[in-house]
Amino acid sequence: MKLDILTIGDELLIGQTLNTNAQWIAVEMTRIGFEVRQQLTISDDEQIIFDSVDEALKNSDVVLITGGLGPTKDDLTLPVLNKFFGGELIENKEVYKDIERLILSRGFKMNQNNKNQALVSSACTPLRNEHGTAPGLWFEKEGKVVVAMPGVPYEMKAMLSDTVIPQLKEVYELPEIIHHMVYTQGLPESMLAELLEDWENSLPATIKLAYLPSPGRVKLRLSSIGLDRNKLQQDINFKVEELKKIIPDNIYSENEEDIQRVIGDLLRSKKLTVSTAESCTGGYIAHLITEIAGSSDYYLGSILSYANEVKINQLGVNADDIKKYGAVSQQVVKQMALGVKNNLKTDYALATSGIAGPTGGSDAKPVGTVWIAVATPNGVISEKFVFGKQRDINIQRASIAALGMLRREIK
Ligand code: AMP
Ligand code: MG
Repeated sequence: MKLDILTIGDELLIGQTLNTNAQWIAVEMTRIGFEVRQQLTISDDEQIIFDSVDEALKNSDVVLITGGLGPTKDDLTLPVLNKFFGGELIENKEVYKDIERLILSRGFKMNQNNKNQALVSSACTPLRNEHGTAPGLWFEKEGKVVVAMPGVPYEMKAMLSDTVIPQLKEVYELPEIIHHMVYTQGLPESMLAELLEDWENSLPATIKLAYLPSPGRVKLRLSSIGLDRNKLQQDINFKVEELKKIIPDNIYSENEEDIQRVIGDLLRSKKLTVSTAESCTGGYIAHLITEIAGSSDYYLGSILSYANEVKINQLGVNADDIKKYGAVSQQVVKQMALGVKNNLKTDYALATSGIAGPTGGSDAKPVGTVWIAVATPNGVISEKFVFGKQRDINIQRASIAALGMLRREIK
């Protein structure tokens, strides 16, 4: 079933209001098996609205519209749709009562604008709006459906979830859809795609694969659409098991969990603790870890060792080594990790030292160079990374890389 989403409003076009409706509707409708053909945002203009509905209806089975249902002169969706479907505007008694109840409950009297909102097209079935004055409008034509909903996000959401989706499910037999997310870390998108090429080519036509990269991570989405839910799930599970054999160390979640949550669960279940000594990440790793409620079970704290003196005095890093190898070096980052592990008496410790940028790089150590160390009960491991030029992205990538190394060590 194809869907067009039409969002109407000048405020959307000029960027004054973020078009959250289109995104939310797309997520909800995709979830129930619709294929979104097009999202279109248009101005409060009669002719444009008319032509857009006409075009959308020619190409899709369902058209969902938001905006332009208010009581003011710039709200044109109702008259245009009424004209399009050849109806008349007549007062609807039930809608009138709904509006009156809402207005009185807010301590106001019905004015002409409120009364006008009870005018509904005779060509549609009005949909009750529990949270506002504008009713939704449900039109049907030659087996196709056009629904107009209010622009106010919470009014639209309630109407879509409580009324529109249940009614669409009655009109159409919708397929089952399964999205299975596999979160990976430690391989850039291009390298991952190369590793997975044969596996990807072996996917059945019913399974679609998408790569969704963000700093330090790539989410893989396997989507399958069909009529038999069990069969879809079986096929996906089979391919995911194959995938795990190809990149066994890089998958950290199949339940849409952040890596810091996965690490937290691991540490808690093994009754282990961790601390951090951050230089270039400036506390971002600590922030990620402590975002998780209950992280005090396993996270003891951090020594934010930005300056060399702090590395030397608080972490016991050898001053000569800093002179000899530089603060961004394997020697120093290892001592940082061991230092905080000893000071805070934890089972594991993470340390970062790098050049976040945009300045401060050299030929030997360009911007983006980051050393990361993990101290474990059995010693200390370290790895060098060379990220990019952007400071904020470098901080994120270094933090995720550090957490990835920690996860592999604990596992
Ligand atoms: P309207 O139904 O056109 O009178 O819109 C009422 C209010 O809803 C507007 O002032 C916007 O703040 C909000 N709104 C309208 N369309 C959208 C949209 N697509 N996404 C988010 N908010 C919207
Ligand atoms: Mg508007």
